[in-house]
Amino acid sequence: MTHPAQPKASHFINGAYVEDTAGTPIPVIYAATGDQIATVHAATPAIVEQALASGKAAQKAWAKMSGTERGRILRRAADIIRARNHELSVLETYDTGKPLQETLVADATSGADALEYFGGLAGSLTGEHIPLGEDWVYTMREALGLCVGIGAWNYPTQIACWKGAPALACGNSMVFKPSEATPLCALKVAEILHEAGLPAGVFNVVQGMGEVGAALVTDPRVDKVSLTGSVPTGKKVYAAAAADMKHVTMELGGKSPMIVFDDADIDNAVGGAINGNFYSSGQVCSNGTRVFVQKGIKEKFLARLAERTGNAVIGDPMDEATSFGPMVNENQMNIVLGYIEKGKAEGARLICGGARCDMQGWYLQPTVFADVTDGMTIAREEIFGPVMSVLDFDSEEEVVARANDTEFGLSAGVFTKDFTRAHRVIGNLEAGSCFINSYNDAPVEAPFGGVKASGVGRENSKEAIKHFSQVKSVYVRMGDVEAAF
Ligand code: NAD
Repeated sequence: MTHPAQPKASHFINGAYVEDTAGTPIPVIYAATGDQIATVHAATPAIVEQALASGKAAQKAWAKMSGTERGRILRRAADIIRARNHELSVLETYDTGKPLQETLVADATSGADALEYFGGLAGSLTGEHIPLGEDWVYTMREALGLCVGIGAWNYPTQIACWKGAPALACGNSMVFKPSEATPLCALKVAEILHEAGLPAGVFNVVQGMGEVGAALVTDPRVDKVSLTGSVPTGKKVYAAAAADMKHVTMELGGKSPMIVFDDADIDNAVGGAINGNFYSSGQVCSNGTRVFVQKGIKEKFLARLAERTGNAVIGDPMDEATSFGPMVNENQMNIVLGYIEKGKAEGARLICGGARCDMQGWYLQPTVFADVTDGMTIAREEIFGPVMSVLDFDSEEEVVARANDTEFGLSAGVFTKDFTRAHRVIGNLEAGSCFINSYNDAPVEAPFGGVKASGVGRENSKEAIKHFSQVKSVYVRMGDVEAAF
């Protein structure tokens, strides 16, 4: 019997599901059991061509619709997503293995927020009037054209919507390629956008590995590439896009610091560290994986952290009581296990976890290492799993320097009751998305993205509009043209 997660076909192009079984089969494995629940096929060159051609053909008419009309379609899609939240959350859980407790509130709903927010902004995207005496300049905010979106596997619905919603609001079309590890949810986003009235070809989804992504990025018809992925992939994609001077947004990895000062509320800081390391089993780019704790509260912090981490409910992701699910796949589980072994070998003190769970599926224990030092592998490299490194520090000046001593710059958090210090420290940290007495909140109203190797550009908020549009300026002369001869 066909599993309910099996999509109608692998791709969604020009308003309809499309199949081409000549493409390499991509098995969809449910992370909680290791069972294959669906199969899709990577896009063949013919499918890539169909998707790009239909995106290109549909864009101009879409951009000519009024912003209010475009926005109405996006907002209708948001309503459909909310009405079908349970079904879409179950699919997200099949795609990623993340517990339903999370997907019910963080995935389809976050995608709907983006569609609603950018749908609301679409009608107000205007230029300005710049008076110059009798003459004047006016500006127009125009679409870029055909955009490519490429996703990571941790938030497949959210990533498709965070890229698609602002792109479409500005009058662009998009070809979106989800991660080969989670191919299911983006197809639903495309299906729902069309149910909401999106013209055929404006949002297309094709499946495939890196080669399909590369074929999309290098196509001369493409005007912009927005990637969510790792730094090494980001460097390749940025370079490929530069060859044709394409616009880019790069949402890449991190090794973000979370700094807990002696005066912090310990339970809130422990809660922040848990949210910033164990939500989605640690598969979150902005995670605060280097938790710097001031020496005076170190042992108290670790004791409370170990106690609360012990309360994680690890089990069937479809059971709403489960608060901690498996890794997305066996490969990622093994990568993370490798880092756990490195942490032990390099002398970090294991506080809790540190092994695979003794059960079916790709489950790891939530793991905390203390006495981690700056040079250890687990303190330098992005692990993308449930492994928290706790480091100690003495002074503010010292911790800021150590926190910034990394190629990454995605996020940073500070826990303290001293607000002057909180703002001063945040001001000195090299990161794009920061938190004071909190960690990992990502509302659509707030810009999201990194500095240094963690990325270029911003998603969400009005900032995203700037990255999916360009400004045309028009000088208007009211008098005669003066010329030298
Ligand atoms: P990845 O870099 O391996 O792959 C990301 C996507 O790029 C996939 O769809 C992949 O098929 C595609 N790809 C690979 N090579 C390509 C190429 N040469 N040209 C075009 N596309 C190519 O990343 P992943 O393992 O899927 O995801 C985990 C990474 O994503 C982590 O580093 C994480 O921090 C990052 N991430 C960042 C954000 C953010 O918003 N900053 C959000 C989620 C995940």
